[in-house]
Amino acid sequence: MTSSSFDLFGSGMTSARTRERMVARLISQGIKDSRVLDVMRQTPRHIFVDEALAHRAYEDTALPIGHGQTLSQPYIVARMSELLLADGPRQKVLEIGTGSGYQTAVLAQLFGFVHSLERIKPLQEKARERLQNLGLHNVRLRHADGLQGLPGDGGYDGIIGTAASLGVPATLVDLLALGGTMVLPVGSSHQNLVLVHKGLDGAVQQQVIEPVKFVPMLGGVIG
Ligand code: SAH
Repeated sequence: MTSSSFDLFGSGMTSARTRERMVARLISQGIKDSRVLDVMRQTPRHIFVDEALAHRAYEDTALPIGHGQTLSQPYIVARMSELLLADGPRQKVLEIGTGSGYQTAVLAQLFGFVHSLERIKPLQEKARERLQNLGLHNVRLRHADGLQGLPGDGGYDGIIGTAASLGVPATLVDLLALGGTMVLPVGSSHQNLVLVHKGLDGAVQQQVIEPVKFVPMLGGVIG
């Protein structure tokens, strides 16, 4: 850890003013949910990337986080959060792909409790430190492969995938509560953001939202 990597308040290119400009851009890109905009205005995104990239943290771009993975661009984080919130507040949310922990931090401020899975241990450890520094304790991080599901678990009223799977994984649909919503990127070279809704009768409906570009969801864990 370097002294400035947990500079929670930031200055210059990492300041509250820079975050305000990011929020103005999100609004111009069509993000409407004021709860999402407020959380992204408050959350220091620059602590979720290496210090050398901190000055780029609020740009309209994905950024490398090591191990060939990326932190999604602000618009995508906002859009997925907004889609998950659309059916009202949700208590129990599952995230596949903790990565830097930024999306996890945003979710933890919008939902009752967030369970987040990451297959690459060193990424998970860094994310844990960042979330603790932000004082976000309604989060449980697990080193696990999300494609395997979570035996004995389930009843999530929201699920978010932050890596692209080839189809909608049945293991994740099974973990969704009746009335629950899942949002995730689906595809390989051409990907779409897909919204999955499980009705109160158990019927599953899918809706394509928009084209996206994510790293792939991969099986197995890396120590
Ligand atoms: N939400 C993250 C995005 C990280 S990129 C952020 O805000 O930074 C996607 C992440 O998903 C990567 O860290 C990758 O290791 C992880 N991942 C990919 N397949 C996975 C799987 N099957 N189970 C758990 N995590 C997975």
